[in-house]
Amino acid sequence: MFVSENLDVNSAGHLTIGGADTVELAKEYGTPLYVMDEQLIRDNLRRFHDSMNKYYDGKGEVHFAGKAFSCMEMCRIVADEGDGLDAVSIGELYTAFKAGFPMEKVGFHGNNKTDEELRFAVEHGVGHIIVDNISELQRLEKIAGDSGVRPNIMFRIKPGIDAHTHDFVKTGQIDSKFGFALETGEAFEAVKEAVSCENVNLYGLHCHIGSQIFDIAPFEEAARVMLGFISEIREKLGYEIEGLNLGGGFGIRYTEKDDPSPFETYLEKVSDVVKSECSRLGIKLPKMFIEPGRSIVASAGITLYTVGARKEIPNIRTYISIDGGMADSPRYILYGSEYDAIVANKADQDKTEKVTIAGRCCESGDLIGENMKLQHAESGDIIAVCATGAYNYSMSSNYNRLQKPAVVFVNNGASRIAVKRESLDDIIRNDI
Ligand SMILES: *Cc1c(COP(=O)(O)O)cnc(C)c1O
Repeated sequence: MFVSENLDVNSAGHLTIGGADTVELAKEYGTPLYVMDEQLIRDNLRRFHDSMNKYYDGKGEVHFAGKAFSCMEMCRIVADEGDGLDAVSIGELYTAFKAGFPMEKVGFHGNNKTDEELRFAVEHGVGHIIVDNISELQRLEKIAGDSGVRPNIMFRIKPGIDAHTHDFVKTGQIDSKFGFALETGEAFEAVKEAVSCENVNLYGLHCHIGSQIFDIAPFEEAARVMLGFISEIREKLGYEIEGLNLGGGFGIRYTEKDDPSPFETYLEKVSDVVKSECSRLGIKLPKMFIEPGRSIVASAGITLYTVGARKEIPNIRTYISIDGGMADSPRYILYGSEYDAIVANKADQDKTEKVTIAGRCCESGDLIGENMKLQHAESGDIIAVCATGAYNYSMSSNYNRLQKPAVVFVNNGASRIAVKRESLDDIIRNDI
């Protein structure tokens, strides 16, 4: 009935998430409101790390991609589950550090890290830094030398696989701002340089082939390409690469049209490919890392809004205006991403209308979606937009000087605030 397994209807006809009544949540915390289901987040992390243990003999780590959803409470949950974290900025590193996250389980990404960020990562003992380009390698070599800490690094590689939601192409795609190209020899030259660096330890290789990918084949192909490169490095340089990081990108269900492969199948198949390729090439089984972001948090989240105006334009469309929009939910205006929505206080009723849900920002493109099936919605109703746990809060802005919503975690019917709603004084806090 609902796109996400943690949604249900209670006897009052209200939508529930993780056992909590969404209409009550809206009343208690106000709207717009991000609601995250802690149990589903934990279940998703466990599905990944349990199958990593089962199919890859415990020789792997799951690193949650913090860019999908980062706050201190999320870092605490990931740490409590024993998983790692992938961070892409000093802000994400700082959030993890302040939350007491074990920094040796953090991977630090970014295609243009600043010296300040590299220094912070080195000084706080980040587990590995994923180096994107030669200038970064050279700057890091110097920063590490000054600090006296010898960080582990991985190289970000472009494996030449361009994965879309439903298929993939082998492009030899070198037109990307991320990482080193294989075909041109750029990656090999970088490895040679890193091997001779005194202050950094070349530990592994990394690739990330895209996002919201439903098929397993592109991941298998990426693993083959990467292992081929590991084998080449061993043959030509006699150097053993210990870690293989295959990135994230596993698809989730946003609407009933989406049908992603289960995470378990992904890990089973990719582990098989890695093991058989390693024995074929005669190389040591690397430690494997994966970096799921969306697949951990997207389905665990919903956003609650209050309906304001209802505008029926005869023969054209009906606009349902809500008290949020592109500032808290930017994926429609950015990518045209589709979502499923429910009138939370009428969740037991049929969806009888097709509407456009519009935000409150001064942009006509500020929509949550068009042609969305919905129960009849009127002023004062609560609308829940589903599967918003990834890339909504983390991409939110203060456009139109709107205050960012609060984030509430629910767990088996109970709720607690994890990020406070911004106040008006927060809006002007840096103004002089
Ligand atoms: C974005 C990103 C991820 C996470 O991607 P999801 O699609 O959210 O799983 C992981 N690793 C890297 C390097 C990324 O850029």
